[in-house]
Amino acid sequence: MRILISNDDGYLAPGIQALADALAAIADIVVVAPDSNRSGASNSLSLDRPLSVSKAANGFYFVNGTPTDCVHIALTGMLDGRPDLVVSGINNGQNMGDDTLYSGTVAAATEAYLFGIPAIAFSQVHSGWSEVESAARVARDIVQRRFETLESPFLLNVNIPNLPYEQMGPLTATRLGRRHQSEPVIRGQDPRGREIFWIGAPGACRDAGEGTDFHATSQGRVSITPLQVDLTHREQLASLRGWLA
Ligand code: MN
Repeated sequence: MRILISNDDGYLAPGIQALADALAAIADIVVVAPDSNRSGASNSLSLDRPLSVSKAANGFYFVNGTPTDCVHIALTGMLDGRPDLVVSGINNGQNMGDDTLYSGTVAAATEAYLFGIPAIAFSQVHSGWSEVESAARVARDIVQRRFETLESPFLLNVNIPNLPYEQMGPLTATRLGRRHQSEPVIRGQDPRGREIFWIGAPGACRDAGEGTDFHATSQGRVSITPLQVDLTHREQLASLRGWLA
């Protein structure tokens, strides 16, 4: 099995190193990741400048672009042949509910999915890298499972509690929860007196009920949500047609 690995925290992040180490034992791996932290990059492509690929001493490739750039470049010309699977992460913090729309970790996996390749995004629930080796073992367990009964390509969003491997709850199928709107922006001044703004923290959970990713991880379980890309609000099509008539 050939696996392409990317992330949004950058090629030097402990999460991608742990993931690469865990998967190198069971597959041929290639790492192509951003040269710096591009968390929150979502599905952005860099169209206003050329991108360069460099190789680090540990064999990882790094790109002066976004997570989506990395996977796009890898799949459309950089790699010989298609990987069997693309994995992203392990992210430094959760990507649950509305986070998935902003996440560069999920975006890297989504880019592969759009090219017809099965993909999995991995995130740890809490940032700070505690128990990242346990998370990498969970990621390897998931990759080692047989995917035959899953329709391919699939796009899975996995959130892993920061627990020792032995205390990790079971793999649990979930739906995305929802958050309240983000915390207010933080206003300040730069050293030259100009007004500046820092984007605030994500909102608290609004829908964290049974069946959600928030709920499963709060119980110490590993949350796996199957994602799709079509954003069409099918239930609203009829009322839209009525409004237009
Ligand atoms: Mn990140």
